[in-house]
Amino acid sequence: MDLSFNLSTVRTRIAQACARVGRDPKSVKLLAVTKAVSDDVVAELLRLGISSFGENRVQQGRKRAELFPQADWHLIGSLQTNKVKHCQDFSLIHSLDRLKLAEELNSRAVKWQKSVDVLIQVNISREASKHGLPVEKVCEFAKRVTQEFEYLNLCGLMGMAPFTEPEKTRNCFRELADLQQELKVKVKPDLEVLSMGMSNDFEVAVEEGSTLVRIGSALFKGEV
Ligand SMILES: *Cc1c(COP(=O)(O)O)cnc(C)c1O
Repeated sequence: MDLSFNLSTVRTRIAQACARVGRDPKSVKLLAVTKAVSDDVVAELLRLGISSFGENRVQQGRKRAELFPQADWHLIGSLQTNKVKHCQDFSLIHSLDRLKLAEELNSRAVKWQKSVDVLIQVNISREASKHGLPVEKVCEFAKRVTQEFEYLNLCGLMGMAPFTEPEKTRNCFRELADLQQELKVKVKPDLEVLSMGMSNDFEVAVEEGSTLVRIGSALFKGEV
């Protein structure tokens, strides 16, 4: 695999998607999802200028946050309440999807004496097997998160489209972007993060307003 080539290809594709809709490429953050690669690959990405990484398991994310403290580490996978105590080093948690988890995160944050940045994960694919809050429940939930949990800082929304032809994901992403706008009016004006788009569909997500794409396999493809 040629990391440097893959990375510049992804960056070019993000820039082209931005150009198609008149956006500044700097408004889209690239999160390298390193769940399936080794520490050596993380080190190489750091050398190539990547500074934000996503992991879907608490254990591995925590280990790497200790190993590479110069980078930001995001938790993008679903989070069990009994693992919250290990989440102190994550700079953003993308998978807040229930009240119990908000309660646990908030009480840990009180102990850590620092607020925790979170995104609400929304089930935009409407697949029962997928995590995330149903779209209809997000507004009420966001109100409670901002009103009842002093140590949680709601930064925006995260969603995953079904794995299909990229063009077919557009409605899902548009729905999430619209929901974010609605929340800005009704709940909290300063929601800045819209985490949507993966290797299969990030260009469509960027066209629909994503500010953070979570990319794994597109960076790591090719001969090993
Ligand atoms: C694995 C993963 C990604 C990256 O997926 P790729 O298709 O490899 O780009 C993004 N988001 C979440 C939540 C993931 O679990």
